[in-house]
Amino acid sequence: MNSSHSWKSGERCRAPGTYRCQNCHYAGRETLKEFQVNVILPMCDSSADKDVTWLLIRPADHAIAIA
Ligand SMILES: [Zn+2]
Repeated sequence: MNSSHSWKSGERCRAPGTYRCQNCHYAGRETLKEFQVNVILPMCDSSADKDVTWLLIRPADHAIAIA
């Protein structure tokens, strides 16, 4: 089941904020990174997997203020 708040490596970030690597999470590690809109989501430094799932856990505050 796809969450609307998670994206995979190679996809474009849709919402700025703090993301958690789900692959690491399932492996018992917490790997958090901040991404900005339109960056291509990277692979995870801490995971050997080629593709990881990044879950948005904390949207950036300035995401709310759209000029
Ligand atoms: Zn990871």
